[in-house]
Amino acid sequence: MARVLEHYAKSLFKEMGINVPTGVACSTEEEVRQAAEEIGGKVVIKALVPVGGRGKFGAVKFAENPAEAVECAAGLFGMNVKGWPCSMVLVEQCLDIKKEYYVSITFDSRTRGPIIIVNVQGGVNVEDASSTIKKLSVDILRGLDSYAARNLWEKAGITGKAIRGAGEILEKMYQLFCKYDVKLLEINPLVETVDGQFVAADAVMTVDDEGFKRHKDVAGMAEYGLDNFGHPPTDREKEMIRIDQLDPYRGTARYVELGAGDIGFMCGGGGGSLVMMDTLIRNGGKPINYTEMGGNPTDRKMIGLAKTVLSQPGIKGFLRAGNISSNTQVDIVAKAVVTAVQELGIDTQKLPMVVRAAGLHEDEGRKILEEAGIKYFGEEYTMEQAAKKLLEMMKANQ
Ligand code: GDP
Ligand code: MN
Repeated sequence: MARVLEHYAKSLFKEMGINVPTGVACSTEEEVRQAAEEIGGKVVIKALVPVGGRGKFGAVKFAENPAEAVECAAGLFGMNVKGWPCSMVLVEQCLDIKKEYYVSITFDSRTRGPIIIVNVQGGVNVEDASSTIKKLSVDILRGLDSYAARNLWEKAGITGKAIRGAGEILEKMYQLFCKYDVKLLEINPLVETVDGQFVAADAVMTVDDEGFKRHKDVAGMAEYGLDNFGHPPTDREKEMIRIDQLDPYRGTARYVELGAGDIGFMCGGGGGSLVMMDTLIRNGGKPINYTEMGGNPTDRKMIGLAKTVLSQPGIKGFLRAGNISSNTQVDIVAKAVVTAVQELGIDTQKLPMVVRAAGLHEDEGRKILEEAGIKYFGEEYTMEQAAKKLLEMMKANQ
């Protein structure tokens, strides 16, 4: 998943024929002054950060003139908006709002197809307006026709001429959703202006990064992982993204820092990793990071991941475990761990390390690890036992 920042998403909206306010992304106060002058009149200044709720947080400001715009921007530059430092702002023409609506298209895991969600009570308090939500599942083979789009808005409570404008926006959103392998497309608020226009005042767009091969233009607008981390990617996370993308067709190795803890965690399989992490925490362990690997990643990826995990400052123990029926080769895992230990100059007598793995090439894997002095457990041990063993070793090491 990759998030497309608001100004880029709005450029794609514009291409598709969805009205957006005139706006300029700025990274200096001087740029803000110029933008406000060019736009003229009242402007909105928003922190360009990939999180929602900026309005309530105080990261959306309004200015009557260029001087005020600069003042607002000065307050936003450098502001930490829910973990994201603001280095760019979006200066936009201020809309004259008659009414705010909510509209989004995402995937419904139940129908395995797109679902449209609309609400005539949009805006910053949309979470409190659940009683007016209306939904429509779309059959991907039939698509969304004009009638269905207008009908949904009508059911939601829009009347008169406005139905046509709101319907058109929805149809264009659906086209955009399909065109770019979008995972989430949200406009909140979709503004009906006092002169009857429908304009996207905000834009949230998350795309499937597996689709970047088809959409090179969008790839340049999106930052991979932006939505996964919940914080700006750290240097180690960026390095791991780079390594993971070197050969995107064989396996994945993903890594997220948690900002606390002392156990380097390198686990396999999304579900297996989660269960292992829960097991470790339930037994009193504190992972520094979360990882997921799967699909039998290449040596290069596995070594990269092992080095990334093992090089974390403050690491006092290492656990590599996961589900047993994994298709990731145990010898590749073992070689990666041992290579990382050697290249980083880690003394396995001093850093407790436990590997619990089974599956393809496990005998080779066991041999490689044991020769390097690393404790290996096969499928005869449970995840719980592996976690307990590591914690015991760490305690003895104190
Ligand atoms: P978010 O809080 O991160 O979703 O940021 P938004 O871009 O949605 O802005 C938050 C709120 O600011 C919106 O819900 C609107 O109420 C208000 N807002 C944004 N743009 C405009 C505008 O052009 N004119 C007016 N009057 N209000 C705006
Ligand atoms: Mn919004």
